[in-house]
This record gives sequence, C-alpha cells and structure tokens, in this order.
Amino acid sequence: MEKKQYVLGTYGRAPITMERGEGSYLYDTTGKRYVDFCAGIATCCLGHCHPVVVEALEKQAHKLMHCSNLYGIPEQEELAELIVRRVVGIDGQIFFCNSGAEANDGIIKVARRFGHRHPAMDGTPRYEVLTFNKSFHGRTLGSMAATGQRKVQVEFDPLLTGFRYVDFNDMEALRATVSKETCGIMLEAVQGEGGVNPVEPEFLREVAELCQEKDLLLMLDEVQCGFARCGAMMGWQAICPDIQPDLISCAKGIGGGFPMGCFWVSNRSIDDSGTPLSSIMTPGSHGSTFGGTPLACAVSHAVVNEMLRLDLAARAKKSGEHIKRTVKGWRFPCVETVRGLGLLRGVALKPGSFAVPEGKTPAAHVNDLCREAGLLACPAGPDTLRLIPALNIPEEVLDEGLGILRAVLGSLV
Ligand SMILES: *Cc1c(COP(=O)(O)O)cnc(C)c1O
Repeated sequence: MEKKQYVLGTYGRAPITMERGEGSYLYDTTGKRYVDFCAGIATCCLGHCHPVVVEALEKQAHKLMHCSNLYGIPEQEELAELIVRRVVGIDGQIFFCNSGAEANDGIIKVARRFGHRHPAMDGTPRYEVLTFNKSFHGRTLGSMAATGQRKVQVEFDPLLTGFRYVDFNDMEALRATVSKETCGIMLEAVQGEGGVNPVEPEFLREVAELCQEKDLLLMLDEVQCGFARCGAMMGWQAICPDIQPDLISCAKGIGGGFPMGCFWVSNRSIDDSGTPLSSIMTPGSHGSTFGGTPLACAVSHAVVNEMLRLDLAARAKKSGEHIKRTVKGWRFPCVETVRGLGLLRGVALKPGSFAVPEGKTPAAHVNDLCREAGLLACPAGPDTLRLIPALNIPEEVLDEGLGILRAVLGSLV
C-alpha cells in the first residue's frame, strides 16, 4: 500500500521504513533493530522518545500549542533566557524560527540591515556576506546562495546576490576577498555536511580580528555543531572560546527532534552612542507565524535544560574521543583519519582503497553496508562517513555500533 508517488522525490531514500524509536535504537517495520549513529541528522540529541521530551510535549499540548507572536509568549522568554545565559553566554537577544535555513536567512537579513546602517565610505550600503567552500547553510533561496557547494544550486539560478566563497581555513584568500560591500563573514565551527571539517583555532581567531578591523559581523552557523554536539554548548566554544560572535544561527539539536530553530543577535554596541546590534531589528523587520510557538519552546526548554543538567557537552566530548581512539586503533587501510569534535565525527575513507559500485560514492556505499548490518550513520561529502549519535548514547550502545562499523570496514576489499 505504498503511496510514495504522492511525495515529491527530493530525497534518495533508503529502502527501509522506521516504525518506532527508543533511546539510541530505531526499529523498522520488519522489526529489525538499528543502532542509531544518525539521530535524525544530529537532531535527536537525547535519543528517541526521551521521557523528559515526551512529557514536556504532552503537558504543553494540553495547555496551549500556538497563539501567534501577536501576544506575549512566556515560554519563548524562558527559553531565550536559557539560551542567552547558559548556551551562548554573551549578552544578546533571540529570534525563534523553525529550521536551520530560516535561521540563516535571518542572520543574513540582520547583516544586510547592519550594512545599511554602517555603509561603505562612499555611503553605499554594504550587503555582501563571505562564506566558505564546502559549507552548508540550507535550502532556501538565501541559505542556498550562502552555501559554498555548487551541487545544491544547480539550475536554481539566478542566485540571490551578495555572497562570495573562500577556501576554509585560508586567511590570505579571505583577506583578499573582503570588499567595500562586505558586511559579514559566515562560517560553521565544524563544517557538517561538507565533510566534518573543523575550523582551525588560529583561523577563527584571525577571522574575528578581521571582522573587528573591517567593521564586519562575525556570523556563526551553529545549526549542526551547536547545542553540546562538539563537546561544548556551542561549537565555537570547543575551538576558540574567547572570540565574540555577532550573530549565531541554531536549529537541529535545539529541539531534540521537534522542529525548532533560532538565531541570536549580540547586544554589543555598534557605534559611539552605544546602539546595540540587536536593536536594529525593529518591530516589523522580521517575522515567522510559527516561530517560537509555546509548544516548540516548551519542548526545546526541556531538551536544553536536560542537556545542561546532565552536562551532555562533557559527555559528547568523552564519547567522541572514544570513537576516534577506537576507530583509529583498528588501523584499517580504508580509514585515512577520523575528523571532527565531540559527537560530530567523520571517518575519512581512503579513496581507491576498496571497490565501490558504479554510480555510488565511497561514503554512500559504506553507509549502505552499515545500514544493512544494523547501524545507521550518514555520509558527509563523497568520502566521509559521519557519526552523529545522540549525546546521551549509553556506552554499551556506542560500543555495539562501533562493533558493527568495525565488521563493515574490515570486510571492505
Ligand atoms: C542542516 C543544516 C542547515 C539547514 O537546516 P534545515 O533545518 O535543514 O533548514 C544549515 N546549516 C547547517 C550547518 C546544517 O547542518
């Protein structure tokens, strides 16, 4: 009774259907059990159907789901305070939306407004945002144009103007690309989709300095690497904690599997009269009908609270180091290295070291073999297998998944 012809075919889906989840296990409709190292693409950070999340959802559903941003929403204020104080840790304000792409569109809008308020020497507005090759920022017209990967843009041009792409971790190239129109530099602390590539600490520090020097906004896309994923509450904090970002986009792990996104805008002053950056987004300048519903905020609050209560950042750091040590310890010739931080890990496969079926990438092939063997992971680029389990994955389930991975990698010829 398949009705998949009614669903637009934008995803190449695996030939399995999930029926239910429990912690770091998923069960398909045939009853087969999988160890989940994908976690809804780094979203289900507390595992599936965590009682704290289920309870928050049920309780709020009985009270109020949605009432619109025309009225005060105390659940938003509670969550915003938690994120500003305990996650970002720098004075600022939050806008709630529903996804990562929306969050990135939002920070691009803030950067453009800033570029109008702080124009170039000749008085023309600045609007250009520099991003990086192999970055991924989303699928809307804005976030797709920001993405430094041609493959997501094919036949959707003309693209939104105002983006230029630079090689990641290349300071000389970045300096040379800043123009009089540039108003911001946007990056992921760890590039997720692009192959699990962490930013180098010196590079990030120099980007922050360049932003100060040229009056540019430092824009961090923390959609995948944020919310305890990389061993600190935010990805940048795990790499170079003393920098001061201006704009941060978040989604994925923030909702524990519930659709949720937000962006943070710094309160730092942008002129001599002490105007806070956040104040340039005045009433009417941005909006979202479903952004920050009481339901989404109550669930997200429960998720973030639990993350903090259990110090899942520290746990992600420890579990991630265990993954790295274990996989490297196997010394398989097909594994070039293990990249990433915390529980955003990439097993870099050595090109040409094993046979890959026609038309498949090495990462997609290994991912298929893992799935057949009962382990769900996720490719990141053509040669990297991404491991992004729930942050609270029990040690024994982590080892069970690694055992499956070992058998698969050991069988490659
Ligand atoms: C997934 C992702 C996005 C897009 O998020 P959506 O919720 O799919 O719109 C943006 N940036 C990064 C770094 C991501 O990993």
